[in-house]
Amino acid sequence: MSGKSCEEALDRLYEYIDNELPPEDVRRVAEHLENCTNCDAERRVNERIKELVAACPKEEAPNDLRARVLAVIAEARQAG
Ligand SMILES: [Zn+2]
Repeated sequence: MSGKSCEEALDRLYEYIDNELPPEDVRRVAEHLENCTNCDAERRVNERIKELVAACPKEEAPNDLRARVLAVIAEARQAG
């Protein structure tokens, strides 16, 4: 699994996590995630970000938090 199907899966990832996709697309994305470690890792990262954003007070800008979380994740990846 690579190339266009990855693009497609990542394109729908947020809606997938938010349960906003029609069942047919959910099935396609889920199928891809089962076969693609990269996209599945991406899904897990984004689910974690969603949790953190949901837990964060409304006054705090979600974009700010998201950037911070992504920075932490990037560091963690480099640390390996
Ligand atoms: Zn993929």
